[in-house]
Amino acid sequence: MSGLLERLRGRGWRMTSQRRVVAEVLDGDHVHLTADEVHARAVGRLPEISRATVYNALGELVALGEVVEVSTDGRARRYDPNAHRPHQHLVCSGCGIIRDVHPTGDPLAGLPAEERFGFTVATAEVTYRGLCPSCAQR
Ligand SMILES: [Zn+2]
Ligand SMILES: [Zn+2]
Repeated sequence: MSGLLERLRGRGWRMTSQRRVVAEVLDGDHVHLTADEVHARAVGRLPEISRATVYNALGELVALGEVVEVSTDGRARRYDPNAHRPHQHLVCSGCGIIRDVHPTGDPLAGLPAEERFGFTVATAEVTYRGLCPSCAQR
């Protein structure tokens, strides 16, 4: 598990039943949900939870640094609770499943000085794409 709930408790995040459901939906490994997916799952546990409540809670979690926004397809922003262990993403081009992966070596170090154009480079995101085992069998 990503330990999101424990981290939030440790930080004294005000845990109403609605906010707890948002955190529970996001907790876990390899979780990369869009805001709409978080809302749909939250409604399954707490039918009255509103989209606005979910969006506000997501914004707070991102501001706290406990959830990171990732975009692996250039479209919908996804929310990732694995905020404290740097990782990259492995994405299936067939079904879209996303795995957290930890490549060896520092992707930042792979960019030579002459290709930095004077930038102070802070982060690098690498997305590995391919077919997952079940899509590869089809
Ligand atoms: Zn797949
Ligand atoms: Zn991730």
